Amino acid sequence: MEGMFWADQKAGEVVNRKFHYIEGDVPEFKEYVVKTSASISGVLHIGRLSDSIRGDSVARALDDSGYNAKLIWVAEDMDPLRKIPEGVPESYSEYIGAPVTNIPDPDGCHASYAEHHTSAYMEVFEEFIRSKITKYSMSEEYKKGSFNPYIKAMLENLDSVIKIQNKYRENPLPAGWSPFTPICTNCGKVITARLKGFDGKIASYKCEDYSFETTTAKGCGHEGEMDPLKDPGKLMWKGEWAAQWDRWQVSAEGAGKEYVVPTSAWWVNAEIAEKIHGFPMPVPIFYEHIMIDGQKMSASLGNVVYPRDWLKVAPSNLLRFFYNKKIMKTRSFSFGELPKLYDDYDTHARMYAGETKTQNEKEMMHMKRLFEISQVRALEIPPPLPFSHACMVSQIFTDEESITKSLKRSGHYDENAKEQMVERLALARNWAKKYAPEESKINLDIDVEKTKEELDGLQKKFLKELADWLLESDRTSDEINEKIYTTSKDLDMPLKTTFAAIYMAIMGAERGPRASTFIASLDKKWVIERFLSLALPL
Ligand SMILES: [Zn+2]
Ligand SMILES: [Zn+2]
Repeated sequence: MEGMFWADQKAGEVVNRKFHYIEGDVPEFKEYVVKTSASISGVLHIGRLSDSIRGDSVARALDDSGYNAKLIWVAEDMDPLRKIPEGVPESYSEYIGAPVTNIPDPDGCHASYAEHHTSAYMEVFEEFIRSKITKYSMSEEYKKGSFNPYIKAMLENLDSVIKIQNKYRENPLPAGWSPFTPICTNCGKVITARLKGFDGKIASYKCEDYSFETTTAKGCGHEGEMDPLKDPGKLMWKGEWAAQWDRWQVSAEGAGKEYVVPTSAWWVNAEIAEKIHGFPMPVPIFYEHIMIDGQKMSASLGNVVYPRDWLKVAPSNLLRFFYNKKIMKTRSFSFGELPKLYDDYDTHARMYAGETKTQNEKEMMHMKRLFEISQVRALEIPPPLPFSHACMVSQIFTDEESITKSLKRSGHYDENAKEQMVERLALARNWAKKYAPEESKINLDIDVEKTKEELDGLQKKFLKELADWLLESDRTSDEINEKIYTTSKDLDMPLKTTFAAIYMAIMGAERGPRASTFIASLDKKWVIERFLSLALPL
């Protein structure tokens, strides 16, 4: 398995799964379930897609090896609301601590807060996932009683459960601990109902304040009793995860790299799953979280990227490519550098299509597999139009005819990839408007008189000579490139001054896109007129 693409390696681990904490053989699975989930209490940004996309890749790898794979998505909608997200009224502070499934929709369009957030996310979610996905909701599962057998098993083996939990803790659990938390029957909150005692059958609780990192869930003071097999409540996360694995017969699941440490909830649950439920630990897919410009995504930093934002500037394949690349390396993403990601993706595509090769067989195999697994629908080789070029052209021209002409002039046009080119141009235009750094922004509207004053005699001479030469015949970008260098040499000009003359003349800046391609992309008549209007009289 060494040297394989990571998802294929994981698929191999899934089919050769073993018990880690008990003896015995793992039963045969007719179908391999890969689980992915999202907490609904937070913002559903593109970071949440990482878990699903990586899970999807493992499901696909299983499929490709001839096994039956199934991807499931679970909404963790029994989790309490921890803070008030942006756009939600302040008055919602009264719901802090309540399960998100029981909080009303602030916009009033859905049955609950949880449903409101899930539905907007789900609308675009499927554009990023290749597998057919089966969805579940934890609140529904609890209502249906799907978790009762696991609650029962944990209660019947309470001593063992406590023993396992204590192995992972510095201080042992207090007496009267129970593996679930009740929901206060008076105020409906899940986190405030603090357990006061548990005799193995009935738990007593008191509803008290609970402090999150920055907020407090107010308790109502109610004192009550509950039967975990009948009354509303939920399992603690250390125990619930194990129950989920058995409930859905999970074979693999993603988790952030913070779960790698040996004391994390992953391993507690793994041991509970095996020792209490007799279910083998799934294969973990540990990964690094995405950073935006080196920072964590957060509403307060204003750098949250929603799946919808992504689709305005790049196809879903590109995010899949990003997430599938090196899964355990810190992945900082910056929208300013999106063209680089496009280029990297295109390089992999050319390799896949057999248009380019490398000496290293293993690297080539990896690149092809990465490209293949990044595809969400039918495999599509991107058009021969670099994103940065699309970005330049889309800023200069708006109508399709001028764009087509320009692409033909610069040698980027491919009749067979017309639709894909149009699509890439539209994405590039959106990117240029919203995220392009200054040096990628193009504005041909310059102050001619002012620029004339700024150019020196040699620069004007250069522009005049280039204009005259362009007038003689149609020139390719390679020819233009050569002409720039020879003329610069003939006139004894430093190259920096030469290029500055070109960019100042076209867009009033010192730097810009590759000069020869840039000139070839523009309308020839326009270039000649612009150059002459600045160069004359000499
Ligand atoms: Zn709604
Ligand atoms: Zn209460």
